[in-house]
Amino acid sequence: MTGPLTCENVHDMLSAYNDGELSDEEMRAVGEHLSSCVACGAESTRIANLKRLMKYWEGIEPSPSFREKVVERTKREIEGRRIIRVSKAVLAVIAVILLAAGAFFLGRHLKQRAEAESAKDRPAATSPQPDRRPRSE
Ligand SMILES: [Zn+2]
Repeated sequence: MTGPLTCENVHDMLSAYNDGELSDEEMRAVGEHLSSCVACGAESTRIANLKRLMKYWEGIEPSPSFREKVVERTKREIEGRRIIRVSKAVLAVIAVILLAAGAFFLGRHLKQRAEAESAKDRPAATSPQPDRRPRSE
C-alpha cells in the first residue's frame, strides 16, 4: 500500500475493518484515518452498529407459521384494497343514480305543484279532470 488512504479507500475497507479481516498494515492505516476523519469515523460507527444489530437478529428464527401468516395477511390487504377500489366505483354509480332519481323526482314534484297551482286558479266544479294545458294560451 502506498501513500495515505483516501476516504473512498477507507469506505471500501470499513466492513472488513470492523470484522478485523484486513492485514495488520491495512488495519493500522484505516485506524489512523478514522482517528483523524470525522466522516469516516461516523460511517465506521454506523457499520459497527449495523453489524451488532445483525448479530442480534441472527439467533432469531421465525416460527414455521410466520411465512404463512405474512402471505395470508398480504393477500387480505390486497383483497381489502381491491374491495375499497370496487366500492368506490359502486359508490360513484350509486351517486349518479341518486342524482338522476333526485332530478327525476324534483322535476315530477315541480310539475305536480305547477299543475296543482293551475288547478287552484280554476273553479274545481267545472273541471273534474285536471287541465294539463299550459296556463299561458
Ligand atoms: Zn475519511
